[in-house]
Amino acid sequence: STNTSNGSDKTLIDSNASEKTLLDRVDSVDSQDDPFIWNRQNSLAATMKEWDIPFEDLHVKEAIGKGRIGTVYRGVWHGDVAIKVLDTGSSADNNAQLAAFKLEIAILRKTRHENLVLFMGACMTPPRLAIVTSFCKGQTLYTMIHLNRNAFKINKAIIVASQIAQGMSYLHARGIIHKDLRTKNVFVDSGKVVITDFGLFHITKLCRGVQKENRLRVPKGWLCYLAPEIIRSLKAMQHSQPDLPFTKMSDLYAFGTVWYELLCNDWPFRGQPCETVIWQVGRGIKQSLSTVAAPREVKEILMSCWAFRPTERPDFSQIAKALNRIPRTRLIRSPSHPCQLSRS
Ligand code: ADP
Ligand code: MG
Repeated sequence: STNTSNGSDKTLIDSNASEKTLLDRVDSVDSQDDPFIWNRQNSLAATMKEWDIPFEDLHVKEAIGKGRIGTVYRGVWHGDVAIKVLDTGSSADNNAQLAAFKLEIAILRKTRHENLVLFMGACMTPPRLAIVTSFCKGQTLYTMIHLNRNAFKINKAIIVASQIAQGMSYLHARGIIHKDLRTKNVFVDSGKVVITDFGLFHITKLCRGVQKENRLRVPKGWLCYLAPEIIRSLKAMQHSQPDLPFTKMSDLYAFGTVWYELLCNDWPFRGQPCETVIWQVGRGIKQSLSTVAAPREVKEILMSCWAFRPTERPDFSQIAKALNRIPRTRLIRSPSHPCQLSRS
């Protein structure tokens, strides 16, 4: 069961997934902690309860911003926290979706790494579903690169990218796919990288706006993180409810885009309409690096992450090693705008 306390366990099971599948998924998340589980249902209920924060216990302050799955508030709960309140609308009544939310929470509580935001708990009583994490001071890479136009010196870019690779390598080792790695979800505070919003993409289905249209909305600046295999599935899906084929390899592709932004202070395919980007990426056409003034190693990392075939992309531990091998003293940044689109 994925339920915690109200005794209506069976109603929470996704009608599309067998009960056994869900139980297995939850149990595989749970049993590593607790080798002496003799009653998996009681154990899961008890552990989930530990992470359940009554909404009334939170001191919710001002809204910081709105994203795809809800609104983030600054708050206080034993110190500063960020509270992501899901915009569930009436869909919170949907028991299968509540079960999916709890499943994501069961996964989040397994993450402990210095480059990952600290998950502190969740409000799991409908209609108020919320995720409570540590509050990230500092700025997102998106703000630094695209709003403040801070040019990263290459050595700093390598340090930031290495920390992202370490956090991501940890997530993948835990069997967690980020699904939404982008510069808006990476904070930098006094040189330390903190990755947020891992594993939450499927909670999108809980949310009002997405449900209403019954098709995937493409937020600005999102397409360029999507690997060709995901872009191609977007096209095939059209009006049906999206269940995008995210994998560890698609996270690698997204990392490639973050690496490009760090190097070039810009988006790949800048200024191109969505249709053009979809057409090109779906056919394996990449942003050209011919005008990027960087050594071979830097471009090789980028091109390997952006490989058309998912299996040709490296894993994050290989990325971390490759970043270490970049000869830092040789690096020169082109003073002119380095990124012009051309077909490669
Ligand atoms: P997005 O990732 O698209 O910006 P989110 O819903 O994740 O959308 O975030 C909304 C706003 O809240 C953003 O400005 C984001 O930087 C901020 N935010 C999200 N998580 C945190 C956090 N843990 N600490 C501080 N600010 C956060
Ligand atoms: Mg975010």
